[in-house]
Amino acid sequence: MKPVLRIGDCLCKNWLKVGGFQRYREVVSSSEDSSPGVFAVFSDSGVYMGLVGSRQAALFPNRIFADLLVRRPSAPVSVDTRLDEALIRFREERVDHFAVVDADGRFVGVISELSMFSTLLEQEAQSREEREVLITQLKAELEYHKLATMAFETTSEGVLITDSTPSVMHVNRAFIETTGYSLEDVVGKNPNLLHSGRQAAEFYKTMWQALRETGGWEGEIWNRRKNGEIYPEWLHINSVRDENGDATHYVGVFSDIGPNKEIQRELQQMAYYDTLTGLPNRRLFLDRLERAVAQSYRLKDGFSLLFIDLDRFKYVNDAYGHELGDGLLKTVAQRIRAVVRESDTVARLGGDEFVAILHDCHDKESCQLVVDKIRQCVNEPIGLGGHELNVSAAIGISFYPEDGETVTDIIRNADVAMYRAKEDGMGVCFYQPEMNVGASERLEIEGAIRRGLANDEFWLAWQPQVDLSDGTLSGAEVLARWTHDGQEIPPGTFIPIAESSGLIDMLGDWVFHQAVHEAMEFKEKCKDCSLKIAVNFSPLQLRGEETFHRITEVMQEKAMEPDMLEMEVTESVIMSKRPGAMELLSRMDDLGVSVAVDDFGTGYSNLSNLKQIRVDKLKIDQSFVCDLELNETSRQIVQAVIMMAHSLGLKVVAEGVETAAQCAALREMGCDYGQGYLYSRPVPLNTLKSLCEKCVDGKIILNTANGKACAPSP
Ligand code: C2E
Ligand code: CA
Ligand code: CA
Repeated sequence: MKPVLRIGDCLCKNWLKVGGFQRYREVVSSSEDSSPGVFAVFSDSGVYMGLVGSRQAALFPNRIFADLLVRRPSAPVSVDTRLDEALIRFREERVDHFAVVDADGRFVGVISELSMFSTLLEQEAQSREEREVLITQLKAELEYHKLATMAFETTSEGVLITDSTPSVMHVNRAFIETTGYSLEDVVGKNPNLLHSGRQAAEFYKTMWQALRETGGWEGEIWNRRKNGEIYPEWLHINSVRDENGDATHYVGVFSDIGPNKEIQRELQQMAYYDTLTGLPNRRLFLDRLERAVAQSYRLKDGFSLLFIDLDRFKYVNDAYGHELGDGLLKTVAQRIRAVVRESDTVARLGGDEFVAILHDCHDKESCQLVVDKIRQCVNEPIGLGGHELNVSAAIGISFYPEDGETVTDIIRNADVAMYRAKEDGMGVCFYQPEMNVGASERLEIEGAIRRGLANDEFWLAWQPQVDLSDGTLSGAEVLARWTHDGQEIPPGTFIPIAESSGLIDMLGDWVFHQAVHEAMEFKEKCKDCSLKIAVNFSPLQLRGEETFHRITEVMQEKAMEPDMLEMEVTESVIMSKRPGAMELLSRMDDLGVSVAVDDFGTGYSNLSNLKQIRVDKLKIDQSFVCDLELNETSRQIVQAVIMMAHSLGLKVVAEGVETAAQCAALREMGCDYGQGYLYSRPVPLNTLKSLCEKCVDGKIILNTANGKACAPSP
């Protein structure tokens, strides 16, 4: 700041020093226009005597200055006098000039109002100039500051400035937004109030050491927001040092890498976890299994590997649709996860295949306990989409290192054991070395089915259905047979394999084509007879439009009347109401083809659902029929099914009728048709033909003793 002006700064230049004895005339030449404004009069000895104004001196040019001095001269002003005080004296004393003296009273000059004013103007001009420079500088500085401030405030990076202690001096908006702390919350505080506790003291020690040694540090750090949430940030810290190299400030700039972390986590999740169930996927499973092998090898202990495969899942999926299938897999996954230890790995390999690595289960007994728990939790009915699903699983177990020392061997052997568990229906199987044929056998069967179809190894067996009211032949069910290498392979073995390998379409097409062909041959024998040919259709074969064309094409080709065909579908197909299957069945129904619900009573259906679907027949499952005589509940169920079916306008076929007593009971209950060993086992067409004795009024009379025995007494 500029010092305040004093009188000493405003001395007048327009004065003349004269001696007391000098005369105006002598000191001012007349030619000079400009005479000094005032004369300062000094004695011969140089002592200041007083001032004489130029106007007065000019009036008396011949008088000495000493005479012109006023009798009572104004007191001189001190150099230190303030301008405003001097001004007041000018006003009060009505003089034009004052002499100016220093602190010791020595004359230093003269002032006038004009000199004061001009000095002020001068100074004003000067300070204006200075001010202008300053303003320009300030403006530039301000601009810079503004930019800096703006950058500080608007950057998306959080900024934190501390002094050397370090305590927080300033933070920017991004800091406030990221951490949730306000400026007031943090100013004066140690930045360690952000510590998450996730990183050990060692971490901060290293950080500070780097800061001291190199003046900077950079890295990932986990901090805690005001709300307690922990988040990762990428932090640069720089120290600001003075000329001695000592840190005066620290500036921390960080970015919240949480969102990146989130993306990273999602990517990792996708790469290593199954999206449907959230369980580890095959890749992560293999990784964990490798680790388990390495660890067990090192610690000289072992673990067990479980292969878990749901029974008939494909069937549920096809019958009820994928959404329900997905829900079922999720539920099963959660349940299995819940019954094993936290440290164990449960993974989904794909489809309905799960695996579990049980780390501390190294013997049969402890493993069996876990396996029982898994089976129990899987067996609990699952309520989904208004259905109650009953699921079961087959579990195969192998141990490290006994059943394999490599990842490949342990996996293969657990898989082999699982197939064996499925095959023998026991549901659980510990691996035994002699089993290794089973799994490869399965692959072989697939190839063999393919070749078998090409080599005519398949043939059809016909099983008669009898009209219980008169014992005549009402129709026949077509059952696929496979004679491979001189051996009869049961459909219970090859149908599921054909279904799971996608060969069922090829096989089903062959069956249907052959069935229609043989049926028309049979029809030749008895043109007027009404006879129904019942063909089994796997749920996988019922695919709407496409299947409709395949079926009708064959029927047209062979000129088969639609009312001669009956499609047997399982009740799960009906209950799932899958659009493709439903559309197909109603179009077949429109044509006059009848639809029978197979194995009725074993699935999840309830009778009232049947009302909405266009089916013509129910086939009561043989499990109800076989203990009709012994089990009162079975009797009641069969009776109820028959009554309900009739009230819905459906006919009823009883399957697996083996005894005359069963036949009699069924007839008494009003059952319409019977099928079973009592009348005939499934037989080749020629055998069926030979069973037919004659044709009366469009009805075929069977010549089997049992058929007759079953007929009502006349
Ligand atoms: P299903 O459709 O329930 O066929 C009836 C099964 O019961 C047949 O077994 C038949 O031999 C057997 N059976 C008949 N009467 C009696 C009896 O009195 N007592 C006993 N204990 N059993 C009797 P099969 O031929 O082994 O067929 C098994 C299953 O294989 C069939 O059950 C059917 O689901 C499936 N299947 C057979 N052929 C085909 C086919 O061409 N296509 C499809 N998709 N499935 C087929
Ligand atoms: Ca059937
Ligand atoms: Ca059946």
